[in-house]
Amino acid sequence: MEGTVPQFVIDAPPVVALPVAGTDALFPVRRVYCIGRNYAAHAIEMGHDPDREPPFFFQKNPDNLDPSGEFPYPPHSSDVHHEAEMAVMLKSGGTDIPVARALDHVYGYALSLDMTRRDLQGAQKKLGRPWEIGKAFERSAPVGPVHPVSAVGHPSAGSITLKVNGELRQQGDLNQMIWKVPEMIAYLSEYFELAAGDVILSGTPSGVAAVVRGDVMEVAVDGLGAMTVRVV
Ligand code: MN
Repeated sequence: MEGTVPQFVIDAPPVVALPVAGTDALFPVRRVYCIGRNYAAHAIEMGHDPDREPPFFFQKNPDNLDPSGEFPYPPHSSDVHHEAEMAVMLKSGGTDIPVARALDHVYGYALSLDMTRRDLQGAQKKLGRPWEIGKAFERSAPVGPVHPVSAVGHPSAGSITLKVNGELRQQGDLNQMIWKVPEMIAYLSEYFELAAGDVILSGTPSGVAAVVRGDVMEVAVDGLGAMTVRVV
């Protein structure tokens, strides 16, 4: 069969692509890393000591990212929580990236939600099992348009909030992150080979709580605007 191009035996899955703010262009997604307990007040509310222990990460699937503005309430849970987070989109990567060079790899930033089946996550934690069924389910990461660094710089301070039906639920400041964005990139790159298309969810401030169908969540970060997501 020399000279022929191999064909996929099934239809190839589509590339997950997120809109880039102010353009018709798309940001293609490779992997999604999420940091746990990165704001002290949230670590405390989840029953942990906020002292600066090493960071830990879990992953969501690329196609869990959803820019549609709707979040379908997932099955097998009656305690689905919002976690407002700033997402970091990489344009390049590598291994053993020094903290001082880490921001060179960032393409842009977006508003996001790390939606969590807290009851399932809690059961997995008790059993010492992985978190996927609590974290990496369908459309579990609503995300807004990607704002390029060329337009918004590198947000490192400023308010991050989440309202539900107009009522303030989560409030923090990006400067309260225990592990800053460059430190997260450097740390991850010691354990994984980072690459263009990788996305990092940078943790949530305190105030996580349950949503129900019909709720309207609004995430806002200074400099990145606001994103509205309806629970359906
Ligand atoms: Mn989170």
